[in-house]
Amino acid sequence: MVLASIHRPGVLEGVRAAYRLDPQHVRQLRNAIYKRGVALDEAVARLPSPARTQLADDIALTSLDLVDRRDSQLDGATKLILRNRADLALESVVLRLQSGRNSVCVSSQVGCAAACRFCATGQMGMARNLRVEEILEQVARAGQILRTEGRRLRNVVFMGMGEPMHNRAAVEEAVARLIDPAWFALSPKHVLISTVGIVDELRRFVERFPEVQIAVSLHTARQEIRERLMPLAAHTSLGELRRALVAIQRARRRPTMLEYLLLDDVNDTPADLDALLAYCRDLDVHINLIPFNPIDSAPALRPSTPARQADFTRGLKEAGLRVTTRFSLGQDIAAACGQLVRHAPRTSRVGPR
Ligand code: SF4
Repeated sequence: MVLASIHRPGVLEGVRAAYRLDPQHVRQLRNAIYKRGVALDEAVARLPSPARTQLADDIALTSLDLVDRRDSQLDGATKLILRNRADLALESVVLRLQSGRNSVCVSSQVGCAAACRFCATGQMGMARNLRVEEILEQVARAGQILRTEGRRLRNVVFMGMGEPMHNRAAVEEAVARLIDPAWFALSPKHVLISTVGIVDELRRFVERFPEVQIAVSLHTARQEIRERLMPLAAHTSLGELRRALVAIQRARRRPTMLEYLLLDDVNDTPADLDALLAYCRDLDVHINLIPFNPIDSAPALRPSTPARQADFTRGLKEAGLRVTTRFSLGQDIAAACGQLVRHAPRTSRVGPR
């Protein structure tokens, strides 16, 4: 018998109703595992006896197995390689920041159909959408790791494997629990969805979650270059994306982040800067510049030189735009932006490198 996952919405309520358990016990359990990061077996063991036995008999405490854990020797990143019940490996990254903004970068799919040229995940093809319980378990595991270090999880970013708007239903269900006071109780401002800009899906998502942070992977304001970097851009023109950004801006009334990966001589020239400035005119956006982390599958792409990066940043700031540069953690464990990959085919085991 395959047991339903404890992280699947409605499962705990079903067991509680079936056995007429005290609702207080369900609350206690959720508070322990989602708000305080208590390990699942420990949280269940704290319940009084009938509830403990019935939950253990009827619910699977995990839907993912931990295959490998890699801790960066350079910074505060830990990559978790997990395997789901379909024997597919996925990755999430725990990020410890000195500011205390401890985060987890979660995957929403195994692989990705978007096939962005600069991204290792995109070169692996698409295997399967993750289920809501598989997304939530990545967050719960990060909370458990941080708790053992005396830290708390503050932010969840959907920047791992996959395009979240290609799996909007599960992502929405997960986001609803992340901000639910009875589950993780995170502030919506501490949840961020990063998308290449699947405009119809994104608009629907923003209608439901106007306070959740949105980052759109723009990477260039020149259509031809965008199509070369991101095949999906052929289906959505920059003009269409800009109209969606205006609509999102109206619905959210807060800046939208535009992500811009700086690639040497691809999108970092003065002409690229001019195109970006023209694109952003009258938009309420915040530009997040991302230094490129080279990947084996795209040997022709190189990071911008420090001089070009400085010129580009200065040009944006002088035009009055809000600009930040992302500091990518976990380069030594291939956990930095764009480096997450689907490690193993369906049936083989992931081993230590
Ligand atoms: S950058 Fe994101 S959307 Fe593009 S291929 Fe990688 S995971 Fe998919």
